[in-house]
Amino acid sequence: MHDLLIRNGTAVTEAGVREIDIAIDGEVIAAHYPRGTAGIQAAREVDADGKLVLPGGIDPHVHYGIRGSHNTVVSETADNSIAAAYGGNTSVVDFAFHENEPTVHEAVAQRRDNLDGRMAVDYGLHVILTGSPTFEQIDEIADLVRAGYPTFKTIMTYRWFMDDGHRFGVMSAVAEAGGMSLVHAEDDAIMRWLTAKYDREGKTHGAYVTETRGSLVEEAAVRRALLLAERSGSPLYVLHVAAGAAVDALADARARGFPAYGETLAAYLSFTQDDLWDREPITINGTTYPDRGLLYNNYPVPKAATDQAAIWAAIAANRLQVVSSDHFLAKAVDRYTKQGTTIHSMQSGQAAVELRIPVLYTLGVTTGRITLSRFVDLISTNPAKLMGLYPRKGTLAVGSDADVLIFDQNFRRRVRVEDLHMDTDYSCWAGWDLTGIADTVLLRGRPLIEAQESTGPRGGGRFVEREILPTYLRQPVGL
Ligand SMILES: [Zn+2]
Repeated sequence: MHDLLIRNGTAVTEAGVREIDIAIDGEVIAAHYPRGTAGIQAAREVDADGKLVLPGGIDPHVHYGIRGSHNTVVSETADNSIAAAYGGNTSVVDFAFHENEPTVHEAVAQRRDNLDGRMAVDYGLHVILTGSPTFEQIDEIADLVRAGYPTFKTIMTYRWFMDDGHRFGVMSAVAEAGGMSLVHAEDDAIMRWLTAKYDREGKTHGAYVTETRGSLVEEAAVRRALLLAERSGSPLYVLHVAAGAAVDALADARARGFPAYGETLAAYLSFTQDDLWDREPITINGTTYPDRGLLYNNYPVPKAATDQAAIWAAIAANRLQVVSSDHFLAKAVDRYTKQGTTIHSMQSGQAAVELRIPVLYTLGVTTGRITLSRFVDLISTNPAKLMGLYPRKGTLAVGSDADVLIFDQNFRRRVRVEDLHMDTDYSCWAGWDLTGIADTVLLRGRPLIEAQESTGPRGGGRFVEREILPTYLRQPVGL
């Protein structure tokens, strides 16, 4: 007698697309049975007829309740993280910034205090080291890796800028500890030169960030980060890749046998730099703002249509391994009035955690650009492997956590801001027709979403200690 049985669905397992029933006992997947096997008893059944049964989505790049680089706007807080489950996710990985705290451990503990008990889905934390960490702080890395924080991000621009010397020190420590280095890759010096040049020429409209922070800015930083990672021996995961040239740099490194990985964002697969030049006004909650195209910005900035074609090809061909959201929800009112509209202070961030999976399904699977199995790799299995959640999560294997997304792949809707569960006043995907929605979401066997509605607890997500298997750290593996 099982606790729960998911019947009649089409499951996407690591063995392929299979017609199986999945049994759950307690918090884990207990068994797979050929569909409709008679005599299997369960206390509860979920009928997934006509739907896809997938491992729960894992979004390895979200930002809840933090101040952005403008330091004036706080993103949507963890209290609204149920929107991640509405988007088909059962786990996310957020970030703990170390800035002025005496120790990195203290920064991590503060972030845990802030998030524990508030997350609707399970979560881990990447550590972000900023500025000029001391030798003692860099020495903390090994202990943090052992404590379940194996991923360390450094940022190559903005107010969290770290120079390459410290970055090399951090990467060396990460390599020794068996962790993974992450980077936000934009070249600060080239960006600043171009910003000054554009300012001198009077080209200060915000959409010019597509030129002051264009492809060269991204590529230069990715190539530099790769060099430092290779020389330090640290595996590298490049966050939010938008430029085709950056994809090429990662592919070059992988071809040399170096474990270099990259993610792109749902936003980059949807929009290009041309969208930033939409000069039409937009009215939101009774206020009219000029230049609605500025709402499409993110950092790194979206690139050209040719870059977008390159990242589509890359996610299909394992030149990029993950699609994440980089969910940083700043409302339109804050974007226009606090973040800014010029190249010197330009709004950014996307409300995307709820839409990442249906956007990728619509643009990717229904068009034949990616297979159903590749879709699951990109949204769940690969982030689990690269971020140290696998095999506990990211798979429907027997013994894994019963984190399950029952995806209604035939459901169609037109996106309306008022229907979204994210605490936002706009969406760049408003008016889009999307195919596929999270019908049912189970977190460790317990329903969070049923019939597209939240029915579970909103603060039941647990912190997950992560450990990356050496397989994914030593050489590039075919993910
Ligand atoms: Zn981010």
